[in-house]
Amino acid sequence: MGRIVQKFGGTSVGSVERIQNAARRVIKEVENGNEVVVVVSAMGKTTDELVRLAGEISANPSKREMDMLLTTGEQITIALLTMALHQQGYKAQSLTGWQAGIQTENAFSNARILDIDSTRIEDLLKSGHIAVVAGFQGVITETNDIATLGRGGSDTTAVALAAALKADRCDIYTDVTGVFTTDPRVVKTARKIPSISYDEMLEMANLGAGVLHPRAVEFAKNYQISLEVRSSMSDERGTLVEEESSMEQNLMVRGLAFEGNITKITVSNMPNNINALSDLFTILASNGINVDIIIQNVMNEEKTNISFSIETSHLSETQEVLAGFQDKLGFESISYESGLAKVSIVGSGMISNHGVAAKMFKALSDQNILIKMVSTSEIKVSTVVKQEDMVKSIETLHDIFELDARVPVQNS
Ligand code: ADP
Ligand code: ASP
Ligand code: MG
Repeated sequence: MGRIVQKFGGTSVGSVERIQNAARRVIKEVENGNEVVVVVSAMGKTTDELVRLAGEISANPSKREMDMLLTTGEQITIALLTMALHQQGYKAQSLTGWQAGIQTENAFSNARILDIDSTRIEDLLKSGHIAVVAGFQGVITETNDIATLGRGGSDTTAVALAAALKADRCDIYTDVTGVFTTDPRVVKTARKIPSISYDEMLEMANLGAGVLHPRAVEFAKNYQISLEVRSSMSDERGTLVEEESSMEQNLMVRGLAFEGNITKITVSNMPNNINALSDLFTILASNGINVDIIIQNVMNEEKTNISFSIETSHLSETQEVLAGFQDKLGFESISYESGLAKVSIVGSGMISNHGVAAKMFKALSDQNILIKMVSTSEIKVSTVVKQEDMVKSIETLHDIFELDARVPVQNS
């Protein structure tokens, strides 16, 4: 007998018919002799709708109340899916994150899972039940308050449960047939990737490929969970996320990821002393501002300019913090440029191939696309471009790295 965690995303439980379709997939695994734990998201766009509703009441709602509100979405789905399973004659019970023993750190809106007490789920499985767990939520250990895991966090619930329950497999059912070379809704020629390594998937997810929540990939890597991303609407095999895959090892570029709404901030004429960088970024970090790419331009022995990118939604906060510390940091002025996007190429083969970045920059400049910032790691190169150039950049890079042309490799 195997043990499987199945996760159904918003679209896959977006209507009564789709909930029944999800129930059929659960039943199929039960009939194959498996113990099944199901994790579900809120139906369709419910979470967005709840965010919108809150916005009508308050421009700056309390994070605690926001989490209280958003977790209701998943609670609807667990009850309905469980009823659908009962209707088909199966024993099932729905559980909120708290009931499922999911304990989080003391932070609202983007809490990390600290621990899972899986006793209740184990008992349910032992007594022949299907456990249906609300994704995206947990309970803060110290306060018993409900916290959410960040948008897209149901993936993380599923993989964390798979780790805690020592499941044989975790299947992520979504509205595309797998992980593609880039978002198939943006690039029509994007191709499904049969298998991708944890590290590449982690980069893709961190760099904006919304198909998997980054922390889900982290859990999968740390606990060696065998993960498959696949469609809830077809029986086509999906994408396996696993240790470095043998079939497609060392591809220079495996995929492209992108995200918009980025702002570049430049702090000009800071005293060029030994603490300049550490002072600036310590202040930003201690004020909860997430900085991405950083560029330092030393002007002369005395002065330096420092640029960094942030999410545009944090712009006013960042400006306020910097203004508050202008005297301490001693810079002359701050300027910023919004309307930017980050476009990244990812592939483990970059480690051993020279010239990948050069090829990327040349392809973009041939299209008259100005690169504003760059950052690299062993397996990715990110560029910041104007948001209006984002789609053209992705299409150009998809083409130049021949991502649509590769012969598909069949899963066994
Ligand atoms: P779910 O509600 O099932 O979790 P999401 O909307 O969170 O679904 O994730 C699936 C979406 O991710 C797809 O519809 C697609 O638009 C987007 N996406 C972004 N990058 C990729 C990629 N590289 N491969 C597949 N889908 C991607
Ligand atoms: N419902 C949550 C969201 O829309 C969590 C998830 O779908 O993973 O972000
Ligand atoms: Mg998702």
